[in-house]
Amino acid sequence: MLKRQKEQHLDELKFRFFTNISHEFRTPLALIITPLELLIRKTEAHNLKNELEKILDNAKDLLRLVNQLLDFRRLEQKGEHLKLSAVPIKSFIEENVEHFDELSKEHHITLACECQFANEDLFYLDAEKMTRVFNNLLSNAIKFTPNGGIITVQAGWIETASTNGRPTGIRISVSDTGIGIPPQDLEHIFTRFYQSDNTQSTQLNTGSGIGLHLTKGYIDLHKGTIKVESTPGKGSSFILTLPSHDEQEPLVRQSENTPEKHNNIENEFTQKTDKTTIWVTEDNVQFLHFMKNWLQQDFHVLTAADGQEGLNMAREYDPDLIISDVMMPNMDGYAFCRAIKTDMKCSHIPFILLTAKKSSESRSEAYDAGADSFIAKPFDVDVLSSRIRQLLEQREKRRDSIRRKIDIDPKEITITPIDEELMQKVLSYIEKNMSNTEYNVKALSADMGIERSLFYRKMQAIAGQTPSDFMRSIRLKRAAQLLKGNRYSVQEISWMVGFNTPRYFSSYFKEMFGMTPSQYAQQTKGENE
Ligand code: ADP
Repeated sequence: MLKRQKEQHLDELKFRFFTNISHEFRTPLALIITPLELLIRKTEAHNLKNELEKILDNAKDLLRLVNQLLDFRRLEQKGEHLKLSAVPIKSFIEENVEHFDELSKEHHITLACECQFANEDLFYLDAEKMTRVFNNLLSNAIKFTPNGGIITVQAGWIETASTNGRPTGIRISVSDTGIGIPPQDLEHIFTRFYQSDNTQSTQLNTGSGIGLHLTKGYIDLHKGTIKVESTPGKGSSFILTLPSHDEQEPLVRQSENTPEKHNNIENEFTQKTDKTTIWVTEDNVQFLHFMKNWLQQDFHVLTAADGQEGLNMAREYDPDLIISDVMMPNMDGYAFCRAIKTDMKCSHIPFILLTAKKSSESRSEAYDAGADSFIAKPFDVDVLSSRIRQLLEQREKRRDSIRRKIDIDPKEITITPIDEELMQKVLSYIEKNMSNTEYNVKALSADMGIERSLFYRKMQAIAGQTPSDFMRSIRLKRAAQLLKGNRYSVQEISWMVGFNTPRYFSSYFKEMFGMTPSQYAQQTKGENE
């Protein structure tokens, strides 16, 4: 027993070591990839661009391996959840295959995709995980198929008579005409670290033997199946099935996995939830990818492809800042910004609009929409970076001034009229109930007509304090003013500001002002009330 525990402990240490090291690799890699992407965008010379792109491909390959290690760790630790969403299945598969167009061309391999779905067919799956599945299967197929070979991806509905033609799931196969897998290896290749003897000695195999293990793990999470058929020298076929999830079943929303909700949406780069979360909305996939890559060196980055999606998600996930392009389908950036700034749930979130042109017209439109800042495209990423910091610093300054100042001016501490009105109301309710010892957060949020959890969120966002801390600090500040006047005893003041036990009053007061109420009265004697 003890021995087993020791082994487990050692295993855990090894895992942790791998995870830490992988994380360490990612930052410098991101710092290579992002400037490289920038450089490629700027470079005009064709030859140089080609060379740089090769470097970029290799750096990305390295990043992919490192990510695979992290995925592996997460899967081993059972830390993965399914995040189902309804996906247009035809284009989803085709895009995943197209991703390998170039690589297969380089290897003179024909890559074909035959999808028997209609364009509008939707299927519930975890898009991120299934993308990894495709990446693993297709990169293996290319790796183990000699030049001139053929790789075919086929996909379609699984229909059985018993369900009246209603599909029970989908079936996908990835077949190659490659070197194949010896029969004795077939049952092992989904085991972690396993590599077939067939491929181990060849130069082809630079992998680590975790790709298929991950693939199976992701398919298992979907409650699907994966099997392999192979004939050495002829080729291999990986066949997988995914069951249909009842459309009535609610999407597995990331919020259900709180408190680490952000981790679950975007589990690629960040494990920490204490990082500032930035939401980027942009319909150009390449540009979005570029921004994400670059921002995630410092921030936790979440993305959406249009304003409507961005709005829904912002309401739910409460990011620290939003960056949005202006030109987007469904809901453009101006409308998106306006919707954010007029919705109590998210009006406090700083908003940067990326406008197409530098005209004063787009500037005024941006400010009309309520944007806190705007940047004209194309822009220098450093400018965006410093703008983000500025806005975050301003937020901190505002919170700090709430803590320090005796008199709070809602105008100074909020960024939208809606929030200003909210703070005005909060202050006046507290003021009205200053001596009411029964008046607590429950009563305050009822007076405000706001649900407690939203109220909590808003106060945290605006004041950086919980509603009860905020309410108490207002009472203590009033007490300090009264103490300066020297007209009432400490006990009287404690009652006047709604504390029914002077002892509590004194200890909270000391915590806030660093001295007891009587010391404070003594020290400020003669100052104006
Ligand atoms: P690796 O990172 O080594 O590719 P995988 O888990 O993806 O790890 O694959 C495990 C092993 O299965 C590979 O090393 C290889 O021996 C074998 N294999 C996987 N896919 C194929 C394929 N399409 N053709 C031949 N062998 C394959």
